[in-house]
Amino acid sequence: MIDLLPKLMHGYLFFSASQRWSAERIGDYQDLKLRTLVRHAAKQVPYYRQLFKEIGFDPAAFRGREDMHRIPLLDKEMVRTRAQELIAGNARRFGIIWESTSGSTGTPLHIIVDRGARAGKLATLVRAYQWGGYRFWMKTFSLQSYYLKNGFYETKPLFRVLRYDSNQFKRETAIEVIKLLQREEPQFFMGFPFDLLVFSRFAAEADLKIPSPKAMVVYGETLSDQKRASLEKAYNCEVYNYYSQHECASMIAECEEHSLHLVDDFAYHEFVHTDGSDASKAGRGELVGTNLYNYAMPLIRYRTRDDVTFDPEQKPCACGRRFTTVSEIVGKQCDYIETPDGRYLGAVMSHSIDNGQGVVVSQCVQDTIDHLTVNLVVDGSFTKASETALERDLRKRLGQEMQIDFRIVPQLEKRPGGKTPFILSKIGHKYA
Ligand SMILES: [Zn+2]
Repeated sequence: MIDLLPKLMHGYLFFSASQRWSAERIGDYQDLKLRTLVRHAAKQVPYYRQLFKEIGFDPAAFRGREDMHRIPLLDKEMVRTRAQELIAGNARRFGIIWESTSGSTGTPLHIIVDRGARAGKLATLVRAYQWGGYRFWMKTFSLQSYYLKNGFYETKPLFRVLRYDSNQFKRETAIEVIKLLQREEPQFFMGFPFDLLVFSRFAAEADLKIPSPKAMVVYGETLSDQKRASLEKAYNCEVYNYYSQHECASMIAECEEHSLHLVDDFAYHEFVHTDGSDASKAGRGELVGTNLYNYAMPLIRYRTRDDVTFDPEQKPCACGRRFTTVSEIVGKQCDYIETPDGRYLGAVMSHSIDNGQGVVVSQCVQDTIDHLTVNLVVDGSFTKASETALERDLRKRLGQEMQIDFRIVPQLEKRPGGKTPFILSKIGHKYA
């Protein structure tokens, strides 16, 4: 963190200014950054060196956005199986920070986000919080997966933040935290919509009032209009949505006017149809992103597997920013798990399969209160050790009382409508 500070300060100043750029200047900047990234990839990244040769792509002639369609899309499966080839030969120069991730699809990935990309992500994240009303030193409450060792919450006085560990989220701990909040009165809340909704339900059932914050930023799962309305009602505050992924390939943040902006000075975004063709005129498409700063492991035209809807005739937002606007993020939905010792676990569960070597996709099916079937689609690199590692990670969240059975399957279970949720509840814990 300390070695990030100079980059972070620089990033903060840079992104404070760039959010006010004209559309033309943003475009020019994207072209410049894309040219630098693509030429770097051609020189330093084995995967791109080979790919460009195969397709006869000349990086020297690459101009920027208008030529992006000439580079094939990159999907999660490619990153999962060929991660090593995507690492730049000179990656160390940029600072190597490994990230393991799974995301809502349950596909474990191991990727590198270098120092520059991480500083950029933190700086743009702070900026997104500020759009949602955050000010420096504002007292903050954060409900997230922290894996705390000593207790279920911690306070960081320097950063004025109270952290509640979502892995230990159950009624009794929630009630203690609500009482703490009543004393501390933080003005800014953040977390997953599911967790914050259940948290408010616990408060209501115990006849306790959660002090209303000035604003709330939520992320990590789809925020439907219905969930947004429930959160606003429960906390009596405005709710702002935020979207990104560990791969840092794309980012969406909600401005003061409640428009969802693609963060165009952080990543270059495109929309595509299922077959990969251009969907920029279609009004709906899969979001494809290229982080402009990750030189250690460049992911160019990365398919996020999340769809967005948008107005092809973009209208300028009243906030004055010229970043692209989308209407809705159509992410994945999942149910939630209740453990025998009373924990409630939503989309956060997907992080438990981070270390599943050889897992292509996974799914948790809760059959009874104390039994979970984990469906796994695997490849040849999956071994008994992968299963042991998975179980160890799952136990951290599920506790000891839940029985876990792993099942290698050809495909995951679908809902009647055809959707394949990461968590499937057969004990009625539907979450829409
Ligand atoms: Zn705006």
